[in-house]
Amino acid sequence: MRAGFIGLGIMGKPMAKNLLRAGYAVQVYDHHEESIQEVAAEGGVPCGSAREAADGADVIFTMLPNSPQVKTALLEKDGVLESMKKGAIVVDMSSIDPTVSIELEKAVTAAGGEMIDAPVSGGEPKAIDGTVSFMCGGKEDVFEKVKPMLAKMGRDVTLVGPIGSGNMTKLANQIIVAVNIAALSEAMVLASKSGVNPENVYRAIRGGLAGSTVMDAKAPMMLDRNFNPGFRIELHIKDLTNAMNAAKAVDMDLPMAEKVLDMMKQLQENGMGKCDHSAVVRYYEEQEGVEVKR
Ligand code: NAD
Repeated sequence: MRAGFIGLGIMGKPMAKNLLRAGYAVQVYDHHEESIQEVAAEGGVPCGSAREAADGADVIFTMLPNSPQVKTALLEKDGVLESMKKGAIVVDMSSIDPTVSIELEKAVTAAGGEMIDAPVSGGEPKAIDGTVSFMCGGKEDVFEKVKPMLAKMGRDVTLVGPIGSGNMTKLANQIIVAVNIAALSEAMVLASKSGVNPENVYRAIRGGLAGSTVMDAKAPMMLDRNFNPGFRIELHIKDLTNAMNAAKAVDMDLPMAEKVLDMMKQLQENGMGKCDHSAVVRYYEEQEGVEVKR
């Protein structure tokens, strides 16, 4: 099996390397030449465009920031559809607007291919270990064909429903994570402002009902004042904005997600867009004039 891989950023680079280690031939492309060369050093075939990366590939992976970049890589000049062979499968692993996944699948099938949306959760450490979780949308027979390759990059590989369901699931994930981080921030700032040691609060409650993967990942970062990403606030703004659009399409409000989106936008305006999303605690700290620390 020959793969094309477009988008070699924080997530895409280690994921492409995992495919190479599993023995697949991988044709790689990114806007950044250094990223192409880094993956080429591990056996990737360097390409000069998305079109070149897709040429002759059985499966074409994209791991790009958002909907506009995926549209560009697939549909525009020097894009995937200019070279994609009949029967090839496009697997978009980016977190994008689910309605765009549906739109893109139409274009890919019209050009003789198939498409799965397969966004991931897990972040850079799990991309490196090959243990991300894939939430997929598409036809079952197409999903079964790409599942073995996804299993080389991730641990849980789940088909949720038709095309777009993967990204709808990812939006659900991102709402839950965002609101959790905000709740954790709110609670930690309340404890700190009341003179109670936040590290002790965390130790006392992490094993109870309030404990969570989010708490164990993000409370230590807040206490260490370590806001290096991880997952950047600007990417979470992108996901929550996509969630607001998805909610609008079914005439629904997302009051909690909307509030956290406002907090994140304010942090971005204050120059913190590239910080980890655990920096939501800074929103509360600035309002209250206290710092959560050990
Ligand atoms: P990133 O910004 O590090 O990487 C994106 C890469 O795409 C960059 O290297 C950029 O040069 C390249 N690129 C952009 N447009 C391109 C184009 N048209 N053609 C070729 N290359 C192009 O982003 P990331 O952190 O790797 O995230 C990728 C996706 O995965 C996003 O949708 C993100 O929301 C999602 N995601 C990220 C994480 C995380 O922890 N970083 C976790 C889960 C999901």
